[in-house]
Amino acid sequence: MNSREGMSPFLVTGRTKVCGIFGHPVEHSLSPPMHNAAFAALGLDYIYVPFPVSPVGLPQAIAAVRALGLAGVNVTVPHKEAVLPLLDELSKAAALNGAVNTIVNRSGRLYGDNTDGSGFLRSLAEDAGFLPAGKTALVLGAGGAARGVAVQLALAGVKSLILANRTERRANELAASLSERTGVETAVAPWPDSGNTWTAGDGSGDKTLDEAVRNSDLIVQATSLGLDGGAALPPLNYALLGPEKVVCDLVYTPPDTPFLKQARKYGARTVSGLGMLLYQGVLAFELWTGKAAPVEVMREVLYKFKNI
Ligand code: NDP
Repeated sequence: MNSREGMSPFLVTGRTKVCGIFGHPVEHSLSPPMHNAAFAALGLDYIYVPFPVSPVGLPQAIAAVRALGLAGVNVTVPHKEAVLPLLDELSKAAALNGAVNTIVNRSGRLYGDNTDGSGFLRSLAEDAGFLPAGKTALVLGAGGAARGVAVQLALAGVKSLILANRTERRANELAASLSERTGVETAVAPWPDSGNTWTAGDGSGDKTLDEAVRNSDLIVQATSLGLDGGAALPPLNYALLGPEKVVCDLVYTPPDTPFLKQARKYGARTVSGLGMLLYQGVLAFELWTGKAAPVEVMREVLYKFKNI
């Protein structure tokens, strides 16, 4: 194992193992400070570098992982799907997602995994003590983040998965693909027409979505609503929430979103999407190094950059 014992945390040698992130853009990524702090905390001789990779450059960048002997990389927008055919092996979660966020270089063979969904589950367990097996979950959204979470909930043995999305066709497609490929019981609830102006507790809300909220142990907000402090709330009947329900917002900018505040107002237990960001990194770190990640060090870096 590479060790930096007795060395400056920033000294790079011929033995240093290189990890990184491929994205376009990558300037905003919090992964470099988070992973470099974690390597330093454990005295591991690793370094994590951001690589701006354009879509046209992705095949050469992946070839470079082998040619340069990088230990592993994260891939982010817009490469998570396009990278699949360039890899040698995929985890079950990555194959079901059709998306990869972590690559491990195993002596030149590239293994693609997806730690977004598994990071989400770890965050639910650590931050709310919530285990999904046998439970009913409602996922709002049908984009990449919703798919990642839904796949992992199905693999973790939820009893039932209910999807609701503004464009219902996409929720139907995701539900059909999940039940066919994992055997999980799925249902689709319609997204209320009232748009983003629907006010919590007022009006009757949508009957079927109301039923979904009532029956769910876990509600995951996986749309982009509320991003960057936008005040729009998903059109739920919030009065149906209560302390027996766990509510998570994947949007983490700001970490305590209007949706989470609203859910707490009605008694629900809430989990910030920042936990998913943290634990996808924790799991990637553990795949690359084989060591238990220093979670608190990584959390501290995220909180510092988010001014928490
Ligand atoms: P996508 O673009 O793939 O999907 C966006 C989703 O949001 C779709 O379901 C879309 O519905 C829905 N949506 C967008 N605008 C509205 C609106 N005005 N009203 C209702 N629904 C709307 O994005 P991702 O799935 O990749 O990401 C979604 C969110 O998850 C992002 O905001 C991101 O911040 C967060 N995220 C968090 C992560 C974490 O680690 N915590 C990781 C990844 C993402 P439609 O199909 O109708 O267009």
